[in-house]
Amino acid sequence: MEEPLESHVLILPFPAQGHIKPMLCLAKLLATSGLRVTFLNTHNNHRRVLPHNPCSPPSPLLRFESISDGLPDDHPRSLERIEELVLSIKMAMKAHLREFLLRECVQLPVTCVIADGIMSIGIDVAEELSVPAISFRTYSACCLWTYFCIPTFIHEGKLPFPDDDLDKEFHGLRGAEGLLRRRDLPSLCRSQIDSNLFRYFIDETIAMTQACALILNTFDALEAPMLSHLATIFSDVYSIGPLHALAIQSKGGHSSGRSESVSSLWIEDRSCMAWLDSQASRSVIYVSFGSLVKITVDQCMEFWHGLVNCGRPFLWVLREDAILGEKEDNVKLLLLELKVTSETQCLVDWAPQEEVLAHPAVGGFLTHSGWNSTLESIAAGIPMICWPRIADQQINSWCVSEVWKIGLDMKDTCDRSTIETLVRILTEDKKEEIMKSMARISALGSDSVGPEGSSSKNLERLIENIRKIGRTS
Ligand code: UDP
Repeated sequence: MEEPLESHVLILPFPAQGHIKPMLCLAKLLATSGLRVTFLNTHNNHRRVLPHNPCSPPSPLLRFESISDGLPDDHPRSLERIEELVLSIKMAMKAHLREFLLRECVQLPVTCVIADGIMSIGIDVAEELSVPAISFRTYSACCLWTYFCIPTFIHEGKLPFPDDDLDKEFHGLRGAEGLLRRRDLPSLCRSQIDSNLFRYFIDETIAMTQACALILNTFDALEAPMLSHLATIFSDVYSIGPLHALAIQSKGGHSSGRSESVSSLWIEDRSCMAWLDSQASRSVIYVSFGSLVKITVDQCMEFWHGLVNCGRPFLWVLREDAILGEKEDNVKLLLLELKVTSETQCLVDWAPQEEVLAHPAVGGFLTHSGWNSTLESIAAGIPMICWPRIADQQINSWCVSEVWKIGLDMKDTCDRSTIETLVRILTEDKKEEIMKSMARISALGSDSVGPEGSSSKNLERLIENIRKIGRTS
């Protein structure tokens, strides 16, 4: 009789910080539970993640491997050139993935592929080799459900928007509570529906349905209505978020366990932690627009003055490569002027964000509403001011302000007086109201990752299913 195969999971993230982070958290959790896991980065990110990963390799069962994304080494792989990246993933990287999986077949066959929800090459190649695939969309349930509805919106003539008024109420997104405007929909809804990128994201969403199950970094109590809509598309949905909190929980909730969820492409500047130690309780505004969003020099100055004018200390993650300037020298000069740490201001290239949000001095988060940042803020109980720019961020910030009421949304505005006003509303006028909602949502989040919580239980179910798949492969 043939021996059953040992379960071996291949995890394939989209090559960007916000995708690698939750997928690596999952990889560590699976390895901790005794599953063999291979985490497959692109060569480019592999070189960047490993040196900063404080516990590499975190488990003898977790190994890091890499393949080429097909682009030359000196390609910037930036948001502005994302189309080249996704095309290369579809063609060149897919071939490398096939070769990699065939090589693995000889040594330790992969019994399950967990592919990022925008890396359907993982599902395709798994299918070719008769390996079951699970799709992990790193967005919220609300955003994913919206993406699934986009073809219907087009069919109904709601997209592209019939006119330029983004403030018009948008009807037809089932499950949406409260006032939803056109500008609250994912940024894809503002783009040309015949563009390559539009097609890419819609095709990737449809391709996810070929997977045997769906994983989401969210929790049942946060997104129940949207999850129930997704359950009409996927027979098996595993909501296992917030994954970073689950990873910490798996280490007994100790702060040292925080390293379980760290996986940065940049080197963390920990000097800001000492600076935070010197600040009064809940006084600091933490400002970060994530890993992809870029701001112009003018926007930078509006934020700067708005923050200075509201008279609160702030910690700002601001990298040279995140500022769009006409002249490189101007950007360098601007940063040189701004990046002087003082009693009230601290600027760093990259912060240990989870630790920053958990620090008692932090009282508010000015964020771009990336999904990881949103979940990390919820887990830490820190209310948000949202300045969404791309992708899922617009609908995330709508959820934050309109559905969960745990922050304020400054969508599509960027001037010093709005920033000053919103900081005051968040930290003074509406502080109690917002903090009350945040305390409720945050408690639901921490319950979900507790021993009997929905995310913990769903993770157990997922692990059991992966083992079962392995036995029947
Ligand atoms: N992050 C960090 N340090 C920083 C800025 C961001 O560790 O200075 C992490 C943050 O904790 C989050 C991720 O980078 O986990 C950003 O993901 P998100 O989905 O919020 O935004 P994206 O970068 O994908 O736009």
